[in-house]
Amino acid sequence: MENLVKKIPQNIRQATALIGQAAAHLNYPSYIVGGFVRDIILERCIKNKDIDIVCVGSGIDLAHQAATLFHPKPQVNFFKNFGTAMFHYQDMEFEFVGARKESYQRNSRKPIVEDGTLEDDQNRRDFTINAMAISLNADDFGTLVDPFGGVEDLAKGIIRTPLDPDITYSDDPLRMMRAIRFATQLNFEIEEESLKAITRNKDRIKIVSQERITTELNKIVAAQKPSIGFKLLFDTGLLHLIFPEMTRLHGVESRNGLRHKDNFYHTLQVLDNLCETSEDLWLRWGAILHDIAKPPTKRFEEGHGWTFHGHEVVGARMVPKIFRKLKLPLNDRMKYVQKMVLLHLRPISLTKENITDSAVRRLLFEAGDDIDDLMLLCQADITSKNKAKVQRFLDNYEMVKEKLVEVEEKDRVRNWQPPISGDLIMKTFGLKPSRPVGIIKNAIREAILDGEISNEYDAAYAFMVEKAAELELKPVSQ
Ligand code: ATP
Ligand code: MG
Repeated sequence: MENLVKKIPQNIRQATALIGQAAAHLNYPSYIVGGFVRDIILERCIKNKDIDIVCVGSGIDLAHQAATLFHPKPQVNFFKNFGTAMFHYQDMEFEFVGARKESYQRNSRKPIVEDGTLEDDQNRRDFTINAMAISLNADDFGTLVDPFGGVEDLAKGIIRTPLDPDITYSDDPLRMMRAIRFATQLNFEIEEESLKAITRNKDRIKIVSQERITTELNKIVAAQKPSIGFKLLFDTGLLHLIFPEMTRLHGVESRNGLRHKDNFYHTLQVLDNLCETSEDLWLRWGAILHDIAKPPTKRFEEGHGWTFHGHEVVGARMVPKIFRKLKLPLNDRMKYVQKMVLLHLRPISLTKENITDSAVRRLLFEAGDDIDDLMLLCQADITSKNKAKVQRFLDNYEMVKEKLVEVEEKDRVRNWQPPISGDLIMKTFGLKPSRPVGIIKNAIREAILDGEISNEYDAAYAFMVEKAAELELKPVSQ
């Protein structure tokens, strides 16, 4: 059997040797197991510092025993109910568990657990590539234990379950999401029988909590090419269950020989494009949702063709509901995604007319510090198959970008506040918070953005007095 000692980074090798010593002291056979072993073989372990240790014995006892051999001695956290323990050492995180055997009941993904052998423990793991172990025992330290051909599957790029996939996925349906997530992260294929089993068992996803589903979904979104995962989710039918709004983007309709594009594949293309320029999870969600309201706003206009008027406004309104359902955060991240959806057409539509300074100022003001992200989304949204069209769009896009820089340098509206505050308006005219205050405030802001008056106190003050007069308000003497 292959020995992997040389592949383990030195600091981790030293640390796991100490754990091996502690295990020998307790007379527990022990092993590194799971994702870390996979990543060592893939040479991905530079990133992975989460090391799972399984022992034939008590994981909690092993953690305590091992901790005494480290300097400084790490603090052990343990969970009696689960029989697990963990500690941090340098930048590594060690998790300890006793080898176990699991059996499942139909209506829960929580198994009945009993002590078991290493083999039992490997049997309960989700995929062959996640079921490999490396011995920490003195007589064969570093030897790989690979009962299901995980090394071969890694080489071939295949996700496969160790046991019957129908049972594996039905027992714990979260594994369906994990299969698709690993296929996306590693750019692997899901083995055919496994893929069919996911399709057959898709409805079982209902027993998995939304939080767990969304954690996997976010890992798909954060991967280099998320379209791989979304296509698998769609083709297996899982997406229809966990995110139906997105599946409604799928399909093409044709009338009088006029077709619209398939907005599902378009969205995935935009998402993949964006992933080349941004790692920001929330901007990626902006890409996923930018056209989400195309289905509900779709119309066929005689003599014109398909339109999706207002899809950016309706889409922005759909964001909170989708975030709530997916248990994504309902905070400023959600507001940011809403803003991206709402404004996603603006940079390009600027080029449809002459780009006026006032239109550019307005966009800068509305996007604020998120303007650069919006421009990345907008660039990713250029997906036509017609090369000349793409080139024309890209030229326009560059023009808008230059104009944005030019206007921002001149007028500084990105983080701008108008020179007259609501407070000052109330004081000047002796008003309580009320509608006229808002009207005057908005009018001042609009006048400045439109370039009607200059962006300075005196001009704005004069304009305020004028506007107030229209509302029959006079300054009170102070
Ligand atoms: P990641 O890089 O995302 O951490 P990982 O493979 O380490 O990948 P974890 O969720 O940390 O994933 O799980 C550690 C190990 O536990 C897995 O490699 C696998 O062997 C096992 N495992 C995790 N979740 C399941 C599950 N739902 N069913 C079966 N085995 C699982
Ligand atoms: Mg892990």
